[in-house]
Amino acid sequence: MTGCSAPDCNNSAKNGYIMKIFPRNPEKRVKWAANVGRLKFDAMTISSFC
Ligand SMILES: [Zn+2]
Repeated sequence: MTGCSAPDCNNSAKNGYIMKIFPRNPEKRVKWAANVGRLKFDAMTISSFC
């Protein structure tokens, strides 16, 4: 169900990729956003990346 939220990436856990779900903790979110700052996080609660 969880697919990668990165642009141009259609990977998902079903394909064997390890999905990193965006943390709910606000402080961790900030760090995540910094790590992938080029991406937009309008839907942070459901974002996940391989
Ligand atoms: Zn991906």
